Amino acid sequence: MVTMNLYNTLTRQTEPFEPNEPGRVKMYTCGPTVYHFAHIGNLRTYIMEDVLEKSLRYVGYHVTRVMNITDVGHLSSDADSGEDKMLLGAKREHKSVMEIAEFYKDAFFADCEKLNIKTPDIVEPATNCIPEFIRMIKELVDIGYAYTAGGNVYFDTGKLEDYYVLSNQKEEDLMVGVREDVEEDQNKKNKTDFVLWFTKSKFEDQELKWDSPWGMGYPGWHIECSAICIKHLGDRLDIHCGGIDNVFPHHTNEIAQSEAFLGHKWCNHWFHVLHLNDTSGKMSKSKGDFLTLSLLESKGYSPMVYRMFCLQSHYRKPLEFNYDVLDNTKAAYEKLVKKTSSLQESGELQQEEMQEYREAFSRALAADLNTSQAVTVVYDVLKAELNDASKRKLIGEFDAVLGLDLLRKAEKKEADSELAAFVEKKLAERKEAKKAKDFAKADAIRDELLAKGVAIKDTREGTVWELAK
Ligand code: AMP
Ligand code: ZN
Repeated sequence: MVTMNLYNTLTRQTEPFEPNEPGRVKMYTCGPTVYHFAHIGNLRTYIMEDVLEKSLRYVGYHVTRVMNITDVGHLSSDADSGEDKMLLGAKREHKSVMEIAEFYKDAFFADCEKLNIKTPDIVEPATNCIPEFIRMIKELVDIGYAYTAGGNVYFDTGKLEDYYVLSNQKEEDLMVGVREDVEEDQNKKNKTDFVLWFTKSKFEDQELKWDSPWGMGYPGWHIECSAICIKHLGDRLDIHCGGIDNVFPHHTNEIAQSEAFLGHKWCNHWFHVLHLNDTSGKMSKSKGDFLTLSLLESKGYSPMVYRMFCLQSHYRKPLEFNYDVLDNTKAAYEKLVKKTSSLQESGELQQEEMQEYREAFSRALAADLNTSQAVTVVYDVLKAELNDASKRKLIGEFDAVLGLDLLRKAEKKEADSELAAFVEKKLAERKEAKKAKDFAKADAIRDELLAKGVAIKDTREGTVWELAK
């Protein structure tokens, strides 16, 4: 099996990825907070995580991937201040929190489908797992890692030797960007302590609340991911993914509470995708004004063009969104599809010669997921001294990772040209029928075409046709 070399945020170096159990990978992904549409920055992260999962499968691993859906507890500041984002969404749209969650969860998966992002094996909304959160928090209280103060339950970061193991932050750095009007939570023993369970919160109108040993309340955001991950993947995780903003405090807190709870190291490898920025800076849902996949579609860019735009840059580099670059990507994508579409299926597979390209593709993936290099290998195949059948086969294999619809488009084109040939044949028959004044037959042909989704119109220049709307 090809060894994947991946950058690990935990060790701050690129290293061979080795799961705990040979051949099997347990992978966890932080899911979306479903209070608004995903913006194309969020989708960059999910595209690159999808490529990671598919690369691991491509090189031969069996992967089990879990993702949560954050539908409670993520406050408008990633620390414990502000309002629950879900409640903000519900207020904005005059709907209930669950209606908002359902709507934006569906919208997220619709975007994923358009982008060929595979749905993880297990998707778990946080509101499904309240008993698991309570059990884990109770254990943390019992073993002395959590305390109650002012009604809330807090994780005591003072009990840890190395709270900053992941983010390598200095305490002073934490103060950067803290707004002066953010109230210090006087209940915390240490500035970095975080809420596991909110009861006495200042948000009296919090819509979703559950009974707990500490009173009616709701879970903090960080505990969701730890508990959902441990519930489905057990107490040793191979790889945990997210956007770079998740490193602190979210993933730092996940490590703190998971390792305190389990009593040993939890996750070996941390994979983070750098942000997509617009010209004014980081794209963010809370800013309200952000780019969505539908907006790109309405401007004539197919989701595949956006996927290719993401694949052409490395996941560990910030990516600036820019319409000029997107236009170039669109032109390149269309040209690429035209080439793959023209490949014929005939010919014996040239297995021996194909091997070189398979190796080059795996090498690109194994080099810390060098996706732009992997796309280059597709171009190399098109230029290679191989017959069409071999090229098609290789491109099909590579597209299982790249997800650019290269062959599906080609197949669709074939279907389209078949349809066009059929329509032309029928129009010729209809012309003959009309010449013979057999209007019943001419009308029957019109109906037959309509039943196949084709509308025809007689004009002075002749009969024209289009796909019926
Ligand atoms: P959220 O729905 O806000 O919980 O975020 C979903 C995912 O998108 C998380 O993994 C974030 O780290 C990631 N993310 C947020 N903003 C960006 C951005 N501008 N570019 C790339 N990923 C992002
Ligand atoms: Zn998470």
